[in-house]
Amino acid sequence: MRFPIKKFFSYYKPYRGLFLSVLACALLVSAVTLAFPLLVRYITKHVLEEDLSQALGKVYWIGGLMLVLAAVQNLGSYFVDYKGHEVGARMESDMRSELFAHMQKLSFDFYDKEKTGRLMSRLTNDLLLISELYHHGPEDYVRSLSRFFGALAILFFIDAPLTLVVLCFFPILVFFALYFNKKLNKALAGNKERIADVNAQAEDSLSGIRVVQSFAGERMEIEKFERENSRFLESRKQTYRAEALFYNSFEMLLQLITITVVIFGSAQIVRHKLDLADLITFLLYIGYMIEPIQRMTHMSTQLQEGVTGFQRFMEIMKLKPSIASKPDAAVLARVNGDIEFRRVSFHYEDRKTHVLNDLSLRIRPGEYVALVGPSGAGKTTLCSLIPRFYDATAGEVRLDGTDVRDLELESLRKNIGIVQQDVYLFAGTVMENLRYGNPAATDEEIIAAAVKANAHEFIMGLPQGYRSEIGQRGVKLSGGQKQRLSIARVFLKNPPIVIMDEATSALDNESEDIVKRSLESLAEGRTTIVIAHRLSTIRGAQRILVLTEDGLAEEGTHDELIARGGVYAQLYAKQF
Ligand code: ADP
Ligand code: MG
Repeated sequence: MRFPIKKFFSYYKPYRGLFLSVLACALLVSAVTLAFPLLVRYITKHVLEEDLSQALGKVYWIGGLMLVLAAVQNLGSYFVDYKGHEVGARMESDMRSELFAHMQKLSFDFYDKEKTGRLMSRLTNDLLLISELYHHGPEDYVRSLSRFFGALAILFFIDAPLTLVVLCFFPILVFFALYFNKKLNKALAGNKERIADVNAQAEDSLSGIRVVQSFAGERMEIEKFERENSRFLESRKQTYRAEALFYNSFEMLLQLITITVVIFGSAQIVRHKLDLADLITFLLYIGYMIEPIQRMTHMSTQLQEGVTGFQRFMEIMKLKPSIASKPDAAVLARVNGDIEFRRVSFHYEDRKTHVLNDLSLRIRPGEYVALVGPSGAGKTTLCSLIPRFYDATAGEVRLDGTDVRDLELESLRKNIGIVQQDVYLFAGTVMENLRYGNPAATDEEIIAAAVKANAHEFIMGLPQGYRSEIGQRGVKLSGGQKQRLSIARVFLKNPPIVIMDEATSALDNESEDIVKRSLESLAEGRTTIVIAHRLSTIRGAQRILVLTEDGLAEEGTHDELIARGGVYAQLYAKQF
């Protein structure tokens, strides 16, 4: 992928003023820093060498000036450090919100492919790296380059031959820095992979802690974790070795330069080509030239990481949701609930075989239809085409006579309620979870919905009633309780169409009974599709559709299908 430079810089836009003032400030700080040794040189070379009776007065003046400069330098640095980082952080936060909002829109097919953990790291780690680059990138370059060339110019001005001697060391220095930097980067990349493994291991063990403890598998989990943890330690040891070697060898080189300058400079002094004050100034400026090199090599890492982070960010930002409203899509009011499949075929992106093949069927407004058939026949898939979780690969799905692809997506989905086998509840209170069905609902409406879903009684039995926290994914509730909350949520949404996909399959007989009653009352007055493999639950259906891997095998009432002695009759015989 080519680097999207335009897009990269577009994030600076809202903060242009602040950012430019940070850069200007960085330049000012560099200039002031460079001025310090010059003032010292002026004192030692001129003031203290001339009329000593006047010297002290001048030194006071220069000292005062230095004090002012020091104040300017540190205030400037404060501004650069604080506001510069803030600019980076703000850009990061903008990008994070943008990315999250974009992820919310991406369709089911995207989430079929991506791992949540990876997406999390895009939202956090990658963006952190980018914000470091956004702030430090330009500012560090300005600071380092201005220091380096400023110091070089001053050194030439003081003594050209000595400067040339020092310059001989720089190719070695740069080569050395680049070489070690490469090594360090590799070590750091290794670190990142190892810590990701540690995280993955911990996440897996901790989210499965209930399984772990029920199998008494703690020891095994500890061993697995320790293996990853010690691999991480090993990789960090290597990094620190490389780091220590790098910094100390660099220091050594620096000392070598200093020693050379001392010897060479002294020789110059002996030859009366240089004076003591100049030599001291010279030594002071050498540090000013080395530090930028150290910083720039460090920065090349940051640059690399930031750029890859940005590319990864863009990879997702560039994805278009495979399912979205057309620009001219009609906003749907409350539908009657007339659902029609016209010669619909469908296969998942990663599979060649069709789940649905040239299937046609019609469900009338207010009808109560059951969909049965062996596991894997495509019942869930079929239903997921109605709210457009996926789009048919051929044919069309029509709602009240309009192709669902011509309807505005949000209004379409508002018309359809789904109760599934595994309920997803959000961490939070009972009230918050129910309100998800209709954010505008009053407390009274929420309670009324809970009553209809047979959930009110058990909710009142919780320690804080509707204000009780249900724990992550609702761990503090039983399966039947969770299902009744999810039904109450659909009551609040009040859609004209409901799909119940194996809603009672995971429940024991007792909770199944109560949930079944909740579902029956939810179905009243709505077009309803019930998917169930326990045939006892669908005997009351007006029509039963039998779906097999070869398509729609038969349809009719329970009695008709039994009389027919086909697939349904066989399934029924197997179960009873
Ligand atoms: P049913 O609900 O009748 O048990 P499904 O509609 O869930 O059947 O699945 C039909 C087929 O599609 C199965 O072979 C299943 O493995 C496959 N399938 C289901 N969901 C996906 C998916 N997200 N990606 C790829 N294949 C899928
Ligand atoms: Mg299913």
